[in-house]
Amino acid sequence: MRIHTTSDDRKHAVVIGGSIAGLAAARVLCNHFERVTIVEADHYPEKPVIRPGVPQGHHAHLMLKAGLVALEELFPGITTKLQAQGAIPLDLLKDAIIYFGEGRIHRVPSSITLYSCSRALIEWQIHQVLCLSPQLRILEGHEVVGLLTDAKEQVVSGVRIRERTTQAPLEQSYQELEANLVVDASGRSTNMPRWLQVSGFLPPTEVVVDAFLGYATAIYEPGPDSERDWKTIMIQSSIQQGARGAVLHTIEGNRWIVTLNGAGRDYPPIDEAGFLEFARSLPDPSLYAALKEARLLTKIYGYRHTKNRWFHYEQLRRLPENLVMIGDAACAFNPTYAQGMSVALQEAQILDSCLTRQQGKTLHGLVPTFQKALARTVAVPWQLATSTDSRLPATEGSQRNALSPLMDRYMDRLMSRLPYDDTIVRAFFDVIQLVRLPGSLFQPDIVLKTLVGKAEQGER
Ligand SMILES: Cc1cc2nc3c(=O)[nH]c(=O)nc-3n(C[C@H](O)[C@H](O)[C@H](O)COP(=O)(O)OP(=O)(O)OC[C@H]3O[C@@H](n4cnc5c(N)ncnc54)[C@H](O)[C@@H]3O)c2cc1C
Repeated sequence: MRIHTTSDDRKHAVVIGGSIAGLAAARVLCNHFERVTIVEADHYPEKPVIRPGVPQGHHAHLMLKAGLVALEELFPGITTKLQAQGAIPLDLLKDAIIYFGEGRIHRVPSSITLYSCSRALIEWQIHQVLCLSPQLRILEGHEVVGLLTDAKEQVVSGVRIRERTTQAPLEQSYQELEANLVVDASGRSTNMPRWLQVSGFLPPTEVVVDAFLGYATAIYEPGPDSERDWKTIMIQSSIQQGARGAVLHTIEGNRWIVTLNGAGRDYPPIDEAGFLEFARSLPDPSLYAALKEARLLTKIYGYRHTKNRWFHYEQLRRLPENLVMIGDAACAFNPTYAQGMSVALQEAQILDSCLTRQQGKTLHGLVPTFQKALARTVAVPWQLATSTDSRLPATEGSQRNALSPLMDRYMDRLMSRLPYDDTIVRAFFDVIQLVRLPGSLFQPDIVLKTLVGKAEQGER
């Protein structure tokens, strides 16, 4: 790994939280600091299993194509390692049954190769690779409980930590860990807005778009079916159909992870009969048919912390130096769009670029530069996630403007064309895989096909 440490302010960096965002941040910090410490409240498991600090790990996770590109750039060779551990390569448009709103998408070979596996396996594999970094230390079973600032409270100089299991009062149980840079990657449970206030700073503006989405997930053993020619099923009914959805991914160990979701407090049940009934209500019968032949291996886990939430650190006129926020701690998305891990990896790459540009200089100015760059990157996935959520009647914090009705009509029309037009399918999936910008859906050939194409079966 490259190390460009030139001055006293590149001695030590601390990362709060060692999940996907924290591990990726630590990876790039190893390029720029002599020592990097991850403080993680949990203990890492020896095998890829779910740990308490990431309860969302029970639920289906798919990394988008843009995320895989970033992952491979950060950890070269990691997708081969994931495959060796049982992750299943998947041509998204060929190997998946996909129903979006109006019907099934025609299955065609594509350039979107993804890897289907549990979230636990992705994190475990990243952790395995990162642990080989000589500069890295991981303080497991420790939590960060506050910031250290200099006497004038202008600069963050480290964090307060303590053992997770201690029963002692806070004031008697913390230690100080000094650092030249602190990265908050503590996820949706971040305490940073409060810690900033304690240190005399204003908290960031918090923007929330909450579609009141619920998840329910279970693992199944597939039933015997020699005719099966798919690896994944993705169903998303339209807003008019009630916005229920589901995914089934084949994951390591020849298992299926099945996640059902419902928006507007239409929470999928966590008892087996209710779970199956919800699956049966979906507009495409494939997932229910598969479950009828399968064997339930686990309990059914529910989850409701799914709101889109963006802390606008980039808008703060005054932030302490040497503190950056990344991953879900900065911006978390409604998970049905499967963006969180991919965006976190991209943000770590931005941190790397910002630190590279700062080489040979002090860290002064890094924080606003990074948070502004993060905001630019987050804006597209945020728009993708919140534009649909904002149309649901029960959503709180909807973000609509004068152009929204026009956009809705165009996007409804485009979605209605998906089962019939492979060019639109490829353009649409490149956008939701974060490979191309949403503007590409307004290129003349796509507009023409969207507006004048006939939504009739057998047209292709
Ligand atoms: C139901 C659900 C499904 C999802 N599906 C997808 C998907 O398909 N694809 C996708 O890309 N993303 C998905 N996501 C999002 C994804 O899980 C997150 O975006 C991703 O894990 C990155 O999060 P993170 O590292 O920022 O935070 P987290 O993964 O939440 O990790 C935070 C870490 O910080 C630690 N921590 C917290 N506080 C402290 C503290 N004070 N001190 C020390 N350690 C601390 C925790 O123990 C944990 O390890 C989904 C999310 C949910 C909720």
